[in-house]
Amino acid sequence: MTASVSPLRADIDLDAPGRHVGHVRLPHSTHESAYGWIPVPIASIKGGEGPSVLLTAGNHGDEYEGQIALLKLIRELDPAALHGRVIVMPRLNLPAAAAGRRTSPIDDGNLNRVFPGDPDGTPTEQIACYVTRVLLPLTQASVDIHSGGSSLDYLPCAFARVPAEASARAAQRAALAAFGAPLAIMVEKPQTNRSLSAAALAAGHLSFATEIGGGGTTRPATQAVADAGIRRFLAHLGMIDPVPAPAAAPRFMRVIGPPHYVYAPVRGLFEPGFALGDTVRAGDVAGWIHFPEEPERAPRALHFAGDGMVVCRRVPSLVAPGDCLAHLASDI
Ligand SMILES: [Zn+2]
Repeated sequence: MTASVSPLRADIDLDAPGRHVGHVRLPHSTHESAYGWIPVPIASIKGGEGPSVLLTAGNHGDEYEGQIALLKLIRELDPAALHGRVIVMPRLNLPAAAAGRRTSPIDDGNLNRVFPGDPDGTPTEQIACYVTRVLLPLTQASVDIHSGGSSLDYLPCAFARVPAEASARAAQRAALAAFGAPLAIMVEKPQTNRSLSAAALAAGHLSFATEIGGGGTTRPATQAVADAGIRRFLAHLGMIDPVPAPAAAPRFMRVIGPPHYVYAPVRGLFEPGFALGDTVRAGDVAGWIHFPEEPERAPRALHFAGDGMVVCRRVPSLVAPGDCLAHLASDI
């Protein structure tokens, strides 16, 4: 791999049959380590003929269901029974994951906001560039496993940027049904065009992301969605033997943009007036912001601007102007 493509290189052979676990070496010269590199974990599991798939987690370092699901997959997937190749990066932005943070402490980089990346950029931009220029061309399908992280909690869902072409949309819909999260949320107006999902779709991938739980932790119910969903996706592609279908077909929903979001207009303590899964109407009270420094001041009521089901909520009660407090999705 030439430096003009990416300065990063894997210390395992991604084309070799069998299970290989190692690191992508990200050069990083610091006071403590003049000629050092950051070891970003990678595994390649290759069996017989079949597609190549890229599975990533830890894109945001404080989202744990995916990191744990992919560690299990690396240990448990049997290359002798695999049709194709799976490339796994369970802690994609390693400095962020090691610190338990959404963003990297060494450059404040938000990996899912810097794609397609830059080979001469910050460490976070260089990781994005390696994925874009090296891993996406090696693979045809991908899942980037996210959760709500420290500040948000989601109902477990697949979270899919909608492809432009009808054939790609149909293939993605079938894959989302196979993945089998309780909800499949189609994002018509993404928060960013610089995500891994955007880069994967631009590369022609069958691809989607997830938002499985969050709150800076994992739980049996959310972990099971990640663990089983990945295996159902691989079975859907014919790469492993069939696995049990989800208990129920996913509920397909969509997020339409600003009317589906509630943001804090002022600083204070947020008291939600809803729970995850509630169905609300435009004008319903979303909650109240209290002013702890002015005990006699009445709280400010906030209202939903659209109709739908609450699929995401803010976790910390302390809020500042611009913080997302909740968002909705509505049935398709
Ligand atoms: Zn995320």
